[in-house]
Amino acid sequence: MKRIALLGATGSIGRQALEIIAAHPELELVAAASGSEPIDGLAPLTQVGGDLTELLERARPDVVLNAVVGFAGLPATLWALERGIDLALANKESLVAAGDLATTARRRGGGRLLPVDSEHSAAYQCLEGRDAETVHSLVLTASGGPFRGRSSEELADVTPAEALAHPTWNMGPKITIDSATLANKGLELLEAHFLFGLDYDRIEVVIHPTSTVHALVRFRDGAALAHLGYPDMRVPISFALTYPERDATPVPQLDLAAGLTLEFEAPDLETFPLLGLARRAGEQGGTYPCAYNAANEVAVATFLEGRLPFLAIAETVEETLGEVDGAPARDLTELVEADAEARRLAERTAAAA
Ligand code: NAD
Ligand code: MG
Repeated sequence: MKRIALLGATGSIGRQALEIIAAHPELELVAAASGSEPIDGLAPLTQVGGDLTELLERARPDVVLNAVVGFAGLPATLWALERGIDLALANKESLVAAGDLATTARRRGGGRLLPVDSEHSAAYQCLEGRDAETVHSLVLTASGGPFRGRSSEELADVTPAEALAHPTWNMGPKITIDSATLANKGLELLEAHFLFGLDYDRIEVVIHPTSTVHALVRFRDGAALAHLGYPDMRVPISFALTYPERDATPVPQLDLAAGLTLEFEAPDLETFPLLGLARRAGEQGGTYPCAYNAANEVAVATFLEGRLPFLAIAETVEETLGEVDGAPARDLTELVEADAEARRLAERTAAAA
């Protein structure tokens, strides 16, 4: 039996995880948490909001599936990493914000960190068992979101409803907006750096509209391994929860004979500046990635409330990054301060936009 604690149980990832767990008698849901929706009876231990590490202490899980959205998932990520308890990580924001602290905690704890983000699960599978020195570079694919091919002028007036209509993935609202701005791929670039220890110049992002290839790893001999499949989060969720068994899922096999065309193109970094801003924040290091994430969370929430134009999401993040000091955080207290400071600056910028 594998004892699973599912955090963010009512969300898009959480609900798909419940489906996987229900189909596997060897997976036991021992604890579940949500942010505000009632979840009585969903698991032997449940918690709505509050300090999720209290729930984890009581639950004693073998695996923590962190599917909380945003910086709120950070304490649970660090809790699992410190203790060497397997962490199935959907909550990319926590790894991006706390990259260096999380890396140290992971080294100390020595547990497994299994990415649930589809691109990173794919990369993990392409990289598994390979010598680091044989790896040339990693390619993350991006669908391009609903606004691929549009110019800045055409994006000035887009509404939250338009931005929420994603072409290939059906996800929670925050990540859907992040996909429309390419901030999601920016966060994923940072996530990949901290997960796989690759320098930023060895991680490339390409647009691939159908989301069939999830990631590709190039090796020094000129070979490249890619991970393909229909876009369905049940595959990476199941991979992480049933690791290393790779159990069956209800997801259909790729039908190549039906005709499968794979198209790739370079991202439009001018129209979608949040991808380049993430790369720069990553290269600057320190708490710049934390500030990038914090400012983006504020800007996305403000956009969803109808109080910020779409293009001002990137402007808010850029201005915030120009104002923070970005000094490295020596501990969680300093990291939480850096996050709060970036939020304050972003709120001020967004209010003036
Ligand atoms: P969602 O908005 O659908 O669900 C978020 C979940 O987090 C909900 O259960 C909510 O109650 C819970 N939550 C929010 N704040 C909380 C708090 N303070 N304490 C406890 N629970 C809290 O989001 P989602 O689309 O399922 O995404 C979850 C995470 O997975 C995000 O980090 C996202 O980037 C990542 N992710 C999602 C997908 C996807 O397909 N949805 C794909 C890749 C990565
Ligand atoms: Mg992803």
